[in-house]
Amino acid sequence: MTKRIIHWFRRDLRLDDNTALLTAYATAEEVVPVFIVDDAILRRPDTASNRVAFLLESLHDLDGNLRSRGSRLVLRRGQPEEVLAQLVAETGAAGVYFNRDVEPFALARDARVATRLEGQCAVVSFEDGGLTAPDSVKTKTGTPYTVFTPYKKAVLPQSVAHPRPAPTQLRTPADVLGEPLPTLADLGFATAATLPPGGETAAQARLSDFIRNGLEHYASARDRLAEEGTSRLSPYLRFGCLSPRRAYWAAREAFSNGSPGLEGWISELVWRDFYRQILFHFPYVEGGAFKRAYDELAWENRPEWFECWCEGKTGFPVVDAAMRQLLTTGWMHNRARMIVASFLTKDLLIDWRWGERHFMQHLVDGDLAANNGGWQWAASTGTDAQPYFRIFNPIAQGKKFDPTGAYVRRYVPELSAVPDRWIHEPLLMSTDLQRAFRCIIGVDYPSPVVDHGHQRIKALAMFSRLTTNQ
Ligand code: FAD
Repeated sequence: MTKRIIHWFRRDLRLDDNTALLTAYATAEEVVPVFIVDDAILRRPDTASNRVAFLLESLHDLDGNLRSRGSRLVLRRGQPEEVLAQLVAETGAAGVYFNRDVEPFALARDARVATRLEGQCAVVSFEDGGLTAPDSVKTKTGTPYTVFTPYKKAVLPQSVAHPRPAPTQLRTPADVLGEPLPTLADLGFATAATLPPGGETAAQARLSDFIRNGLEHYASARDRLAEEGTSRLSPYLRFGCLSPRRAYWAAREAFSNGSPGLEGWISELVWRDFYRQILFHFPYVEGGAFKRAYDELAWENRPEWFECWCEGKTGFPVVDAAMRQLLTTGWMHNRARMIVASFLTKDLLIDWRWGERHFMQHLVDGDLAANNGGWQWAASTGTDAQPYFRIFNPIAQGKKFDPTGAYVRRYVPELSAVPDRWIHEPLLMSTDLQRAFRCIIGVDYPSPVVDHGHQRIKALAMFSRLTTNQ
């Protein structure tokens, strides 16, 4: 048995079913669990304070769980390659183990680490972040899948490994010192959003609660904006506080006879994997359209409209409620993400990358692969076969998915007294009604920033110019 191995935690902030950690545990007498606060990540313009806050809580929880097994988290700050080289020198570790990431930034960093540690110790990476490895599921001709449904058929159910439990005991050398966990302010961030609790402990509790109380109704409840009809596990999956394989098998085993809720929910986990493998195989999507020709779209990009959208002041109630949900909670309902992304790109004619960046600056679950995939889906520039001329009508979407206006009223208090009948179209109220319901349009609540019908025609023209020019 090897004497010591360093486990480098990154987006796998858990002990349960953690592939690299469990391998280190099985291979070495002592494991040094380290997390490195990397200023290069903190300084990125799309780093959200909400995610940093969630990360810090998750690290606190991880440290507690390690301590209850006889170990502890060693926290260091600096450039990962330098910190790890120093730690290897201090501990005499025979290897650095970690779980792979698919983001270009992380892949470049990990390559630097491997080069820096060459000849000093083994650097071994493991597949862990998805239901399956991003390069393990290929078409018959050996190419990556670029269409979701056949990808899903190829993944399920055989390819998903069963999760493995956390180690019961972990030995860590007593003389390896770490820094105290910084506060959000120490790192130069502040947040006003009301966030879910970070960490593996909270993740497992939420998973159990969802399986017990939510999964059965998922198919019918998942699109209702005002309800907690979805699992809200996305930040935990984003930071690896929860193993996707654990989530998958826990749900399957709880509903072993199947259910529409189960199948629908598992499809969403597969979407997560699908976009991970898209980013892995087509890393250029980070900066541009999956369908490259769509990089030529002539977006109008009006900054004043973008500002209205970011602040939730477009005059379209469901869009405004969603954008304010993002600002106040760091999270947004999936249906609302689709509505506001369609609105930004196809009503305001603003480049999807502007919206993608704004989301990353606020989402507690902000994840390059899923966010990019979602934005390209909405903008019709991505993998989806959906034709560009399917454009969401924000008023119809509001009426359908928030029929009583409860979601709108929760986040847009100016409209709280407006009856259901006008909640999604307050402009239709007469001046007397506006006065009666304390909502004067243009004073208390903005007039619609655009005319949907008019903008729809412009969007169609923008897309068709491109397709006819090809
Ligand atoms: P549930 O419905 O309970 O789904 C379970 C899990 O499946 C989620 O936690 C998530 O990990 C995964 N998932 C669900 N839907 C998708 C999807 N369409 N694509 C990929 N994974 C999915 N999800 C993120 O995790 N991070 C993002 O940055 C992100 N940005 C998005 C941007 C846009 C424009 C759109 C349309 C979607 C985005 N999504 C993103 C996907 C989806 O909206 C969220 O994953 C979901 O709302 C999270 O809520 P939940 O955990 O309750 O989901």
